[in-house]
Amino acid sequence: MPASTYQVDEGFSFMRGYSEKLYNRSCKVMPGGVSSPIRAFSPYPSFISRGEGGMMCDVDGNEMIDLCLGYGPLILGHGHPAVFEAVMRQANQGMLFGAPSVQELEMAEKLMKRTPCADMVRLANSGTEATMHAIRLARGFTGRNGIVKMSGGFHGAHDALLVRPGSAAMERCIPGSSGVPEDAVRNTLLAEYNDLEGMSELLTKNDDIAAVILEPVMGNCGLILPEEGYLEGLRAITEENGVLLIFDEVITGLRLAPGGAQESFGVIPDICTMGKAIGGGLPAGAVLGKEEIMSLISPAGSVYVAGTFSGNPMTSAAGNAVMNHLDATTYRTLDAKGRKLADAIRDMVSDRGMNACVNQIGSMFQLFIGRDEVTNHAQAQECDAEAFRSLFLGLLDNGVYLPPSQYETNFLCTEHHQNHIDKVVEAFDTTIREVVRSA
Ligand SMILES: *Cc1c(COP(=O)(O)O)cnc(C)c1O
Repeated sequence: MPASTYQVDEGFSFMRGYSEKLYNRSCKVMPGGVSSPIRAFSPYPSFISRGEGGMMCDVDGNEMIDLCLGYGPLILGHGHPAVFEAVMRQANQGMLFGAPSVQELEMAEKLMKRTPCADMVRLANSGTEATMHAIRLARGFTGRNGIVKMSGGFHGAHDALLVRPGSAAMERCIPGSSGVPEDAVRNTLLAEYNDLEGMSELLTKNDDIAAVILEPVMGNCGLILPEEGYLEGLRAITEENGVLLIFDEVITGLRLAPGGAQESFGVIPDICTMGKAIGGGLPAGAVLGKEEIMSLISPAGSVYVAGTFSGNPMTSAAGNAVMNHLDATTYRTLDAKGRKLADAIRDMVSDRGMNACVNQIGSMFQLFIGRDEVTNHAQAQECDAEAFRSLFLGLLDNGVYLPPSQYETNFLCTEHHQNHIDKVVEAFDTTIREVVRSA
């Protein structure tokens, strides 16, 4: 990473004493004080007491516009009446049956109807579970072992895909976490996003590859969009080599369009995974795909996939409510808001002569500091993560809550209205002024 050209200011005027106390208490009972690593940031994370619409409030009474939205799931914002009522109604009727229910059937039907690649659906409880199942399914279907993932791609916290991002393309992976045996990633190969030539070479040289898994729009190393023709090319190359194409649409599913990125870009994978938004704020995951593949899943077939909470009625009720609520107008409006905000931030950084760029699609956006273009993980890594950290803390101070990393994506929801967007623009303006060194 280059030396920061921006100030890294530790002296923020936080009014967050209670959060600090709770964090110190948490650190004694929870590793790092949190239940998932990205939530921890220095000096201490805000403890949230309440969410409402597009806003969150912390335990110290600070109100913030929430552009994290639970890392994407809350496309209707916090506590949407339609979701709230569906969940309360279901809680009243029973929270878990361990037997089939109408709610889960409807959820599967709704997902299938919206998702171009889906003839069948297996519901699960998280994105991690969904991609883990999808990998096993691809291996079971093809009888091959190799899996190609993108450098910088994230598919959850299970062994096979938990490999150090950023290694050179076409190299065998090394584990990205202690506790992952080398054997677990022996069959995982890395490729660079937006590089069709590299992928073509990789698939031609290796005849034991079951699937290529990628986020069609990369949302876990900042936000990176597919270049013109990339997804189409990937579809063609995988087909030529008899390799399955898996779209991990855990973020993009229901987020970019009713049918996710595959609908937006018109490229149909063999299998896709979903999570986040389909649960309406409750834990959710799903594997969807073509019938000849999906019918291999147990008990119909020999690929074992199971879960006590899978397809549970609470998540299904919430997911159904979200899907009932989203229509073409919702997406048009979200897209317009996303474009407007991205344009405003672009103008701001260009007015200040800042070396930065904004990537945006629909209701997702990210500002990269330190590069004028980011189209793959290697470029994302050249960005100034320390400057971003200052920006994040400054925005927090100005009432805007982002995911605390350059390598995440910011989200808008249906409950962010013009007044929120105006305030976000104002906060960015103030913060950028503070953060950019007068160079
Ligand atoms: C969040 C995420 C996952 C993991 O989902 P969990 O519900 O956190 O297990 C998988 N893939 C992508 C693309 C994600 O963004």
